[in-house]
Amino acid sequence: MRIKRLAAIAAVAVLAFGAAACGSDSDTPATPSGESPLVAKAKAGQLKFGVKADQPGLGLQAGSAYEGFDIEIAKIIAKGLGGDAAKNTYVTTVSANREPFIQTGQVDIVVATYTINDDRKKKVNFAGPYYTAGQDLLVKADSTITGTDGIDGKKVCSVTGSTPAKRIKEQFPKAQLQEFDAYSKCVEALNTGTVDAVTTDDIILAGYAAQSQYAGKFKVVGKPFSSEPYGIGLKLEDKAGCNKINEILKASVTDGSYKAAWDATLGKSGTAAPTLDVSKLTNCPA
Ligand code: GLU
Repeated sequence: MRIKRLAAIAAVAVLAFGAAACGSDSDTPATPSGESPLVAKAKAGQLKFGVKADQPGLGLQAGSAYEGFDIEIAKIIAKGLGGDAAKNTYVTTVSANREPFIQTGQVDIVVATYTINDDRKKKVNFAGPYYTAGQDLLVKADSTITGTDGIDGKKVCSVTGSTPAKRIKEQFPKAQLQEFDAYSKCVEALNTGTVDAVTTDDIILAGYAAQSQYAGKFKVVGKPFSSEPYGIGLKLEDKAGCNKINEILKASVTDGSYKAAWDATLGKSGTAAPTLDVSKLTNCPA
């Protein structure tokens, strides 16, 4: 009887082990039920983050390394999920490919000046917001453009698939919208005089204006005309991961890592770290 029971236990154990082995392919770690697959990926050092590569202070590729506030947020998330942030893989994303990169699994998480909105929420989940920017205009230092009332008939540059490009089309149809795939191309076009203004989030524009190669050449108009809450994008079905990332963001306020992330990047210009309002971390599906 006793032997029979032991044999039965052994058989169950073999079955369970077999099922676990079959349930996951060799490079994807197994996930206990109810837990986000991101946790196992983090513990295995396999997290892939989609980030920007050409936005100073936020997401900038320098050689093979990436730096900026969004990269620091990615590190906080990896650590909070139980991983080693030094093992993060960063993949360059542009505005238009963030949802498809998440949907197809090319990246696990996007931290890339990524505005939370209802259209995008149909395709991906958003933890956050961890920061709120506003759309603004970058112009030449001697430009006469002082706000959106001066952009009719002007060449205004933005990025395909971004909320600022969409807003120009919908709300300022008399502006001549020029679209590129990345903001650095717009900034170069402003520098050479091919366009009259660049439009995107104020925090992104401030980063370009502060770059040494453009010193004294540009100014941010300083009249934001939208609210751009930055979210952390992840798979639509990963509700557990969304809630977990919000918990991590909450903890980052208490343990000081959110402020440290700011101070090490955007805060270097002297701007104090924003207060992260944890009561607004409400974008995960109910
Ligand atoms: N936050 C805006 C967006 O998500 C503009 C910045 C960007 O394109 O990354 O579209």
